[in-house]
Amino acid sequence: MYDVIIVGGGPSGASAGRRAGILGLDALLLEKEDFPRYKPCGGALSDHAISYLDFELPEEVIEWEVTGAKVIFKEQMIEAHKDYRLLTLVSRDVFDNLLLEKAKETGIKVHTREKVLSCRETPEFVEVETKENTYRAKFVIISEGAHGLLKTCLRPLDTKDEYGVCVVAEVPAEVKEIEERLGKAIEMHFGVAGGGYGWVFPHKTYYSVGVGGIARDLPHPKEAMLEFLKENGFEGEYKLHGHKIPRGGIKRKVVGSRILLCGDAAGFVDAFSGEGLAYAIRSGQLAAEVISGICLEGGKAKDLKKYESLCQAEFGTHLKYSLMFSKVMHRFPEKTFRIFTSSEKMVDKYLEVVGLSMDYKDFLRWSLLNFKFK
Ligand SMILES: Cc1cc2nc3c(=O)[nH]c(=O)nc-3n(C[C@H](O)[C@H](O)[C@H](O)COP(=O)(O)OP(=O)(O)OC[C@H]3O[C@@H](n4cnc5c(N)ncnc54)[C@H](O)[C@@H]3O)c2cc1C
Repeated sequence: MYDVIIVGGGPSGASAGRRAGILGLDALLLEKEDFPRYKPCGGALSDHAISYLDFELPEEVIEWEVTGAKVIFKEQMIEAHKDYRLLTLVSRDVFDNLLLEKAKETGIKVHTREKVLSCRETPEFVEVETKENTYRAKFVIISEGAHGLLKTCLRPLDTKDEYGVCVVAEVPAEVKEIEERLGKAIEMHFGVAGGGYGWVFPHKTYYSVGVGGIARDLPHPKEAMLEFLKENGFEGEYKLHGHKIPRGGIKRKVVGSRILLCGDAAGFVDAFSGEGLAYAIRSGQLAAEVISGICLEGGKAKDLKKYESLCQAEFGTHLKYSLMFSKVMHRFPEKTFRIFTSSEKMVDKYLEVVGLSMDYKDFLRWSLLNFKFK
């Protein structure tokens, strides 16, 4: 009987694993892939996300550093910067592998290439079935990401209004060319993907180029991506990768009697920007801390509920208001994104949200006071 079994070794699972190991829990992490593995992503790690790591990010993982953004809508473009770093660009195969190694370092058991098929809660334990084995644990953390069905033991799958679809490609490029095009900025193109945006992010040897929007409003993501690549002068043949992304800020059940959901499985993503790494890392850590309180500090199983309030207190309001902001912006895109791409003040304030020196609640209030969005 383990104290905790963690399903999935992405950022949320690996962070839960590391924290569980540090706290002294008897933990097993099960990951279906062999690591390092590819994960479709822009690879933009906010300083907010980095602040949750309890170790220095090694130099070799850092591919680019960003202080600002070029925000584009049709023929309008505006660029703004801060005098500090906002984002660090990483490749997810490397970054996720690092997080998993950091979890292993604490002595927890990690089985890769072992897919979990089911999790069954009983009053005393959770039974976890894989192709190879059946395990028991007092608690289970499901960190299977946006895909996968294990999460349905707690909540229904998201509807087409509740998740986004993304298509991403890595476009090879020389450093000089990337510097000339982007410098220390990312590009965000609005109006190219329903309810979302297209992006061009700088990496060491490639651009991450992608589009993502709400599933209902972006019925043909591949076509939108091909159009976006063409419009931006990326004319080669690129491997396209599709992936779901949950829309954060929606109320979802994330706690059962012995099971917790973390990261994308819980829907913890910024609905406007698509940032999920910070919330994946932090929710994984919080899940392990709550379980440690029960297993090692004399808590009761019902204390598991604390996980929900801890997540709510740390980032729940932020995600709720990012959804509201996203809805305001995408309701009348012609008007709102024209304002966004003509007001340096607004992009500057938005960068404060990215840097987390302002929250979405204050940003939304400030935007509504300063601009007429209808
Ligand atoms: C195209 C795209 C671009 C994005 N860009 C950014 C960005 O630039 N910045 C940002 O902050 N966020 C970004 N995100 C969001 C970010 O990728 C996610 O929020 C983050 O990966 C969530 O981490 P996770 O650990 O919850 O899930 P994942 O990273 O998806 O990890 C889940 C893991 O669980 C494993 N797994 C699944 N099922 C099982 C099973 N049954 N048994 C065992 N293992 C299993 C998987 O193999 C995987 O390794 C982007 C998302 C997409 C789709």
